[in-house]
Amino acid sequence: MNKPVIGVDLGATNIRAATVAADGSCGPLKRHEIRDETSPEAVADALAALAREVSGKARPAAVGIGLAGWLDSEGKVVRNGPNLGWRDVPFWQLVADRLPRTGVVLTNDLRAIAQGEYLFGGGFGSRILAVVFMGSGIGSCVMIDGVPLSGTTNMACEIGHIRVVPRNGRACGCGQRGCLEAYVGGHNLERRVRHDLETGISTTILDLAGGDPRAITGATIEQAAAGGDPYALDLWCEAADYLGQALGSLVTYFNPDRLVLGGGLWQGAQTLRRLVKARISQMSSPAALDACLVADPKLGDRAGILGAAALARRSLEKKHE
Ligand SMILES: [Zn+2]
Repeated sequence: MNKPVIGVDLGATNIRAATVAADGSCGPLKRHEIRDETSPEAVADALAALAREVSGKARPAAVGIGLAGWLDSEGKVVRNGPNLGWRDVPFWQLVADRLPRTGVVLTNDLRAIAQGEYLFGGGFGSRILAVVFMGSGIGSCVMIDGVPLSGTTNMACEIGHIRVVPRNGRACGCGQRGCLEAYVGGHNLERRVRHDLETGISTTILDLAGGDPRAITGATIEQAAAGGDPYALDLWCEAADYLGQALGSLVTYFNPDRLVLGGGLWQGAQTLRRLVKARISQMSSPAALDACLVADPKLGDRAGILGAAALARRSLEKKHE
């Protein structure tokens, strides 16, 4: 196969794309900022243009796209794309119309990341792999023998939306209350700190954010917690309790040989990581935990692009079988 296969990461603020060879080697990464053009048609136009730019003179054989959100079980309609405010958008068709004679594969961003880490990174060689990324939200995927578990309606393994607080829990972006993401997702944590500051709590977080509540991030909470700030430590202890409970249950339930933990919030928060790792040990069945290696991702922000491209390549190969 000589025509290029392209991996695309469609994020909240930009589209990134590169050609990816079968061995995972990547061409130069190109980026397009989305800014205010978030209509599905405008994003599809920009994505198709970027794919053509990345593939140079050759028509791309296939394009794999990872995006945050819930897709229908055919992988063609974005049922809920929170970053772009999309509901029931037939995005696969929009892209396919703009890239004729090119295979198009649409997948959830975490599935793309898990696929990338499984083939080329921290999940390499794993048979039952669980991948959980903690950033502005919580994304997760379980892969068995290299195949992501998708579920009946494409919602399997969404650990961010399991209920950790059964009654009167905090509101989650999914419309439910008490989800893990409502307590541990970066956006929800930041919102909570801002709200608590308005009610007059005392914490060094605001100073660490330069006095600007909008500049509060997981990193400022971590900095405060590492410095012994009681409010920040309480937040991290609560987050670690819920994360430990959810991740420990995941280890017991799926009995994975590898658990890859990543994401912006996680990677920048040593104090939180230490607390969570201790909780996972307490909350997992020992026989399952003994068999599970907790590992870091290895591919950085290329994982989703590599994984989406690999899924696109696989769909082409299937077609030719
Ligand atoms: Zn939720």
